[in-house]
Amino acid sequence: MQLKTILNRVQKFKSFVYGNIIWLDAKPNNPAILIHVEARTNSKPICSGCGNTGSGYDTLPPRMFEFVPFWNIAVFLAYAMRRVDCKKCGVKVERVPWADGKNTLTKTYMQFLAAWAKKLSWKETALSFHTTWEKVFKSVEWSVTWGLAHRDLSNIRSIGVDEVLWHLGHKYLTVVYQIDKECKRLLWVGKDRTIKTLLRFFFFFGKQRSAQLLFICTDMWKPYLKVIAKKASQAIHVLDRFHIAMHMNKAIDEVRAQETRELKAKGFNPILTHSRWCLLKRPENLTATQEVKLLDLLRYNLKAIRSYLLKEDFQFFWDYVSPHWAGKFLDLWCTRAMRSRIAPMKKVARMLRSHRELLLNWFRAKKTISSGVIEGFNNKLKLTTRKSYGFRTFRAAEIALYHTLGDLPEPECTHKFC
Ligand SMILES: [Zn+2]
Repeated sequence: MQLKTILNRVQKFKSFVYGNIIWLDAKPNNPAILIHVEARTNSKPICSGCGNTGSGYDTLPPRMFEFVPFWNIAVFLAYAMRRVDCKKCGVKVERVPWADGKNTLTKTYMQFLAAWAKKLSWKETALSFHTTWEKVFKSVEWSVTWGLAHRDLSNIRSIGVDEVLWHLGHKYLTVVYQIDKECKRLLWVGKDRTIKTLLRFFFFFGKQRSAQLLFICTDMWKPYLKVIAKKASQAIHVLDRFHIAMHMNKAIDEVRAQETRELKAKGFNPILTHSRWCLLKRPENLTATQEVKLLDLLRYNLKAIRSYLLKEDFQFFWDYVSPHWAGKFLDLWCTRAMRSRIAPMKKVARMLRSHRELLLNWFRAKKTISSGVIEGFNNKLKLTTRKSYGFRTFRAAEIALYHTLGDLPEPECTHKFC
């Protein structure tokens, strides 16, 4: 069987044929195959400006396009691009089916690299296929651009808005997810977490789609609350359970750290040291050692422990069905927290009180929104940003996030190369 036979089976181009196939390099350690591509005789070139066929103007010197490697041998297509004498656009380079514009990577190769970049980090992908980080980035960018242009944004009913730290923890991103039962994906990424950031999302999303939103899930971050009240006031605005837990944990952390310092200063045993995870984790997630430690800790009447018990009690809130009784529970809990004389817990209570209605919206939306979605996305997102040490720029982070979390469509192909 000839290589040409294989090529015609896996990657056939209309109006083009495969010509000579030669070794590109005689070096035994670094072999490469060059496949000549020729236009079918009498085929007319397509104008890259408007997509219409035109008569040929002239032919440019051959160019090489990188294709999917074969048995660890680099493969290039070589083709002499024709120029079209287009009635509409003037003299233009022709459009070819295997590559876009000035790109030296074939679409198939970019799709191949982008698919691997979902499984490996970009650096690992580059190393595995003897290519560069930049080429992998370019491939993922191409794939994401295609996917964003071809995705379906109809029937979005529920969204979640979240803020995430990135760039070594110095900067924020705002991310918007679709959190409908039948479709969960990242919809949008923006720089910062200001009013302007979320306004940009609504501008992108459009008035009509915004008016169709039924539920919006967020943190208590003020700029978000403001923008949502203005841009999608018809939607039920829900405060996300995951974010409330984060605020509680932050308060407990604060109490514990301060109390540890106080105990040390007074010369007591450092019982609270190494107790951080016992207090932050849900009891069912504790390891055996942590469980023993927690039981030990519970014997002391410490502020950290009382805060922990308050947090654990609050979990019952989420089990209510009726907003009315949930509201009663919330009020009681807040009163207890206010009487605890623990400043960080009082702060949480005040915050919950001032967002009472939004919190109770949770029970109005309960059947529609699955609670763990935002938390799940948040974890995956952290994994993506952590895995990619190369993300110095917002553009790279943005592309990587759409790539891994966007659930984007991909171009159809006759053969899957990976
Ligand atoms: Zn044209």
